[in-house]
Amino acid sequence: MMLALGGRCGPSLAAKWRAAAPAASSSLGRYRLSVASQSSTSSPSPSPSQGKNKFRETVLLPRTDFPMRPSGRELLEKELQIQRECGFSELYSWQRNRKGKDFCVHDGPPYANGNPHVGHALNKILKDITNRFQVMRGSRVHFVPGWDCHGLPIELRALAEFGEETKTFSPMEIRQKAKEFAKKAIERQRAAFIRWGVMADWDKCYYTYDKQYEAKQLRVFHKMFDKGYIYQDYKPVFWSPSTRTALAEAELEYNQQHISRSVYVKFPLVKPPSTLTLPTGDANALIWTTQPWTIPANQAVCYMPNAQYSLVKCLNTEELYLLGTDCVESIAAILGTQFEVLQTVTGRDLEGAVCCHPTIPGRESQLLPANHVTMVKGTGLVHTAPAHGMEDYGVASHHKLSVDCLVDEDGLFTEAAGFELQNKYVLNEGNETVIQMLHGANMLLKEVEVKHSYPYDWRTKKPVIIRSSKQWFIDTASIKDRAQELLKKVQVIPQSAMNSMLAMLDRRTYWCISRQRCWGVPIPVFYHKETAEPLINKYTREHLIKLVEEHGTDCWWTLPLDQLLTKEVLKKSGGSDVSNYVKGEDVLDIWFDSGISWSHVLEDTNNIADVYMEGKDQLGGWFQSSLLTSIAAQKQLPYRKLVVHGFTLNEAGEKMSKSVGNVVDPDVIINGGQDPNQNPAYGADVLRWWAAESNVFTEVLIGQNVLHAARDDVFKLRNTLRFMLGNLYDFDPETDAIPSEQMLIVDQYMLHLLQDYSTKVTEAYKEYDFGKVIRLLMAFINRELSNFYFSIIKDRLYCEDEKNPKRRSCQTVLDEALDVISRSMAPILPHLAEEVFQHLPNIKEPMSVFRTGWIKASSVWKKPGIVEAIEGASAIRDSFLSSIPGKNSTEYDVTIIIEPSLLLELMEQLQGEQISSSSQLNELMMASHTTLLTSVPRDLPIDTNFIEGKFVINLEGGDIIEESSYKIIVQSATKEKCPRCKKYTSSSALTPCPRCLEAIAGKWST
Ligand SMILES: [Zn+2]
Repeated sequence: MMLALGGRCGPSLAAKWRAAAPAASSSLGRYRLSVASQSSTSSPSPSPSQGKNKFRETVLLPRTDFPMRPSGRELLEKELQIQRECGFSELYSWQRNRKGKDFCVHDGPPYANGNPHVGHALNKILKDITNRFQVMRGSRVHFVPGWDCHGLPIELRALAEFGEETKTFSPMEIRQKAKEFAKKAIERQRAAFIRWGVMADWDKCYYTYDKQYEAKQLRVFHKMFDKGYIYQDYKPVFWSPSTRTALAEAELEYNQQHISRSVYVKFPLVKPPSTLTLPTGDANALIWTTQPWTIPANQAVCYMPNAQYSLVKCLNTEELYLLGTDCVESIAAILGTQFEVLQTVTGRDLEGAVCCHPTIPGRESQLLPANHVTMVKGTGLVHTAPAHGMEDYGVASHHKLSVDCLVDEDGLFTEAAGFELQNKYVLNEGNETVIQMLHGANMLLKEVEVKHSYPYDWRTKKPVIIRSSKQWFIDTASIKDRAQELLKKVQVIPQSAMNSMLAMLDRRTYWCISRQRCWGVPIPVFYHKETAEPLINKYTREHLIKLVEEHGTDCWWTLPLDQLLTKEVLKKSGGSDVSNYVKGEDVLDIWFDSGISWSHVLEDTNNIADVYMEGKDQLGGWFQSSLLTSIAAQKQLPYRKLVVHGFTLNEAGEKMSKSVGNVVDPDVIINGGQDPNQNPAYGADVLRWWAAESNVFTEVLIGQNVLHAARDDVFKLRNTLRFMLGNLYDFDPETDAIPSEQMLIVDQYMLHLLQDYSTKVTEAYKEYDFGKVIRLLMAFINRELSNFYFSIIKDRLYCEDEKNPKRRSCQTVLDEALDVISRSMAPILPHLAEEVFQHLPNIKEPMSVFRTGWIKASSVWKKPGIVEAIEGASAIRDSFLSSIPGKNSTEYDVTIIIEPSLLLELMEQLQGEQISSSSQLNELMMASHTTLLTSVPRDLPIDTNFIEGKFVINLEGGDIIEESSYKIIVQSATKEKCPRCKKYTSSSALTPCPRCLEAIAGKWST
């Protein structure tokens, strides 16, 4: 007999939570209904029958005041309240005062020149997740946040509002304005970092303008100087005419769209190679350059010693050219002509040849061998201007050529370049004039525009040039081998980043550390007025460091020279008259400033951190400068591990920039924008969830869609937690918990899964794979908890007697699961985790989740043996549910037929009797009755439908594999619907079923 669906008045609660194969969201949706109705009325059933309502009053529905879905003001105030009440600001010092092993994350200092942005959020939150995990694991976390405070970018921003007036400022005026600017930026950033929930002692940060820091920096400088790693030299460096200073590689941005005017130029051979036989007329070496303005500084033409070179005749002009054999065809095509090859020789045969300079009469250029020449671009012969190229400089040092520079600090040709060029800017007018001069001398064969990657000043966004000047350098070539050797011992996550680090060390043979600015730490050197000889030794050093410790580096500009270089110091240094000296005017590169942070911040951890954790742009920046200074000064690594994350882009995959107006502001993410529909207030936890998910090496997208998805995940998690809290209101773990071996099998199975989850999630944290933490967490709450466990235990939770061990058994699981889930998410969502802990029932004094340790999953929970029983039953249930799509499973009785086998034995563990409405097997089936048989009953009607299925049992790690088949018969429930539990287990629709009668005995009487 089948009960008509229309027989029920509206969907009852019980029917709703027993719907077949519920999805996670809808099952929580149903739960929402039940809690909402509980708060509005004591009778949740919409049934019109008063008699039935009275039974419903005895159903044990969840109770909790844990809010469901706080938003807007409520959400923000809640987070701030939690930060205050759960001691966010005291957590760092609390954990520092414990006993335990130190764990040190060294904070790479953000630059103190602007507002907090999502790049900061990603970086600081990833560090904080690491730190909070370590605190919960019992480590004493060492984390001192810092700021990078010196340098040109701050100087420029600080002076921007003063316009022309800045030219009248003294160095001290500039320094004061820059410092004020940096301080304000630091305050804004600090406030944001605190709001994001980043754990630290925010009153004890480090600042690169702090006088103790500056003094440490000078000590490292001197240590490296004493070891011979720091030297002064005149050589080509990247030079920014727009900011009149030298720049390091890390201060450049490469513009892939830069257009240069490239030229093909003849260099007439005045002394041809002896191996060439010239038929008639003069021959010309043919060169190509993208920087015509460097031709006046030409000192040589370089060739590849092992390559082939050809003497060709141009069929248009009859002129003879010398060029790389591999380039003959392509160059002829570019010049719009054809070449007849007259003779081919090997590069080294060109030795001893000399050409004359194309524009400077009487100047000669030798043909010289060089390793950097290739045939890939150009003519195979390379114009060499030692003042304007790093490789050119290498050739010049080897062959003792002049490195004289004809370009001044503003990028203008000097007087020495000749009256035609003097005072012309090399990148436009100067370039044009050189091209005109080549043309006038009949040395220009062709001009072609090329689009190529070209270095720009990272701050002014204007092109830089390479220009030789007198600078201070670190001899990175001498540090490189040791650095590479030690770096290989560092664990780099991801491993692929290691190769970039190693390759960058190879490429970098020296590091220019002097800058011609004043907002920074002075290079502590005096120069003799006449000889320009630098004066720097242990006497000048000790005196200056003492002054800096007392006054900060301002003293370099405020104290008179005879106090910086006292008579006593000068005497010990072998000098006599202070008036013979001047102090240096250069400051140190800010990458040196931040690179030595290990010497100041890591003093109490032996100058080494467990982890440096930064964006991938630091592979060539702070990771390198820290490594190089540490290896040079202390012969050891500054870090044991490097964790590298990606950088942030907006949702369209574009770089965010103020000028484009596509910046995603973390303050708007947290607090919402002017239009709450467009920019809702997400709060700090959603921002943190996004950061955790985004812990990847590649680009990280952020925008409304990503944030929306993050918020949905956090809501799902919140509702799962709320379900567990709501069903624990009458549960005291001290007195009510059931030992795991006495639990129902499905409950033991859940503990087994919980143990497995705990192990995996802990491992993922240890591997810094927070995205994996989130995937594991969401899979566990959606699949194992919401979809599976919660849907089957609701009958037990709500309808059994409150003290029934079966109910206590699943409450014990919920209690453990709540604890495990809360702890496992706490490093990512500290606000939500603390909120859960504030709402735990049966706790006298709420404790901070961060002060009570990590997950305490017990290995006793691990019971692989029961997995097959539950999974076997679940497979059978899935067969059953898929045969009644959209129907309520309690409207059916199920008969399961399994011939004697391992599967049958497992099912018999779940149901001892032949037919049951209360067995564990029936609970898993979510039916009203389950019958377990070993053979098909003989008296079945002939039209009976069987559902057939197979299940593979895998025991003892694969040693026992057995495939068993099963048959299911699904029939409409034969009994009447119980008015209390809504299962079809009652003899009359007016009387509760026997189970329910027992549960309400003494509490309610008909
Ligand atoms: Zn009942």
